[in-house]
Amino acid sequence: MRYNALKILTEGLTGNKGWRPAWRTPEPKPAYDIVIIGGGGHGLSTAYYLAREHGLRNVAVLEKGRLGLGNVGRNTTIVRANYFLPGNSEFYSMSLKLWEGLSADLNYNVMHSQRGLINLFHSDGQRDAFVRRGNAMINQGDDAVLLDREGVRKMLPYLDFEQGRFPIYGGLYHPRGGSARHDAVAWGYARGADSRGVDLVQNCEVTGIDVEGGRVTGVQTTRGAIRANKVAIVTAGRSGQVAALAGLRLPIESHVLQAFVTEGLKPVIDHVISFGMGHFYISQSDKGGLVFGGDLDFYPSYAQRGNLPMVEHVMEAGMTLMPMIGKAKVLRSWGGIMDMTPDGSPIIDKAPIDGLYLDCGWCYGGFKAVPGSGFALAHLIATGRPHPDAAGFRLDRFRTGRGLMDEEGTGAQHNLH
Ligand SMILES: Cc1cc2nc3c(=O)[nH]c(=O)nc-3n(C[C@H](O)[C@H](O)[C@H](O)COP(=O)(O)OP(=O)(O)OC[C@H]3O[C@@H](n4cnc5c(N)ncnc54)[C@H](O)[C@@H]3O)c2cc1C
Repeated sequence: MRYNALKILTEGLTGNKGWRPAWRTPEPKPAYDIVIIGGGGHGLSTAYYLAREHGLRNVAVLEKGRLGLGNVGRNTTIVRANYFLPGNSEFYSMSLKLWEGLSADLNYNVMHSQRGLINLFHSDGQRDAFVRRGNAMINQGDDAVLLDREGVRKMLPYLDFEQGRFPIYGGLYHPRGGSARHDAVAWGYARGADSRGVDLVQNCEVTGIDVEGGRVTGVQTTRGAIRANKVAIVTAGRSGQVAALAGLRLPIESHVLQAFVTEGLKPVIDHVISFGMGHFYISQSDKGGLVFGGDLDFYPSYAQRGNLPMVEHVMEAGMTLMPMIGKAKVLRSWGGIMDMTPDGSPIIDKAPIDGLYLDCGWCYGGFKAVPGSGFALAHLIATGRPHPDAAGFRLDRFRTGRGLMDEEGTGAQHNLH
């Protein structure tokens, strides 16, 4: 069923009785060509591009819970392509281009809103770093505009320009940055994959990965054994646990990241803003809530909740930047589990077991990567070759030390991840 304005009008006038579920609820088959473990953003987009780009439809996505209830539905929805160094920058540039056509491509409104993202800087040194980053972005065909203090004041007059501790020197403006509706991204990819024949199997936890003679042969699940020629582990914060089912130890730690949303307010914040002195970022959702977050909780955990010191840290940063938000009531906070790599960059690669693939290590930034990651992993699975824009995301860089990718562009500082 294609969605369009006429369909909405007709359904509205006839009691909305003609809508059908956006995807089927199939029983798992005994065998597939490809099994994807994890029905988050990355797993669903991989399935979609396998079917759409490569015509591979004998594919199942196995999700232990319900589709889209993991990190893809728990993040602060920032979408951007303002990475600095080669390795990451071309990948996120490619991903943003996919975002720009995504609603039309999926025939599903993912509410991608290019409202512009502004990274504030607060010292001469930070300004120099952002100038370099902006130049790198422009050189690669992306957009960046350097704003001085008055330029920022014109766009964001409600920031506190008077406080002396972290004075606002200016900002790097990325007009094509913005946000998207997270659930809609999962649902849109799910619908697109399902309509091309992919089986999306919910409430199906993978409990074992079968390996014979160095080759993957299938998976064990809570709904029985499933044979497969190829298996991809796309389980975000649970990647370490799931890879261990195949006897692999990944260079990943799982950490909690929290987010917060206030009561709905009238439009007040037009852009996505990030504070350069304290890791705080904020935007306003289409429902009016101020959505914001900060740093990781800084200790490994699988609990989808956070600790109070980080709540305090985030609130302090927000109040320092824009004291007006102190008047808004926080409605909810929650946590998600981040798959952190030592260099802050992801892994899209073949595992050292034939037929097994890895897509993980997205840290706190994998939402913006959903289209690009699915596109690149589908390419790798279908062709056996890495996608050129994701060729640096190799697993062996952590063993050899060659090709490590400094995600922040700030040098090898582990505490930044
Ligand atoms: C609070 C917060 C804020 C964030 N903000 C941003 C942001 O602004 N911008 C950005 O780019 N990124 C952001 N992120 C990061 C982003 O959400 C993640 O990197 C990304 O969603 C991870 O990929 P995914 O969507 O596939 O993960 P998930 O949605 O977590 O998908 C993984 C799936 O695997 C399933 N699974 C796990 N184990 C098994 C098993 N054994 N069998 C079957 N299924 C299994 C899980 O149930 C889950 O559904 C944020 C994350 C959080 C938590």
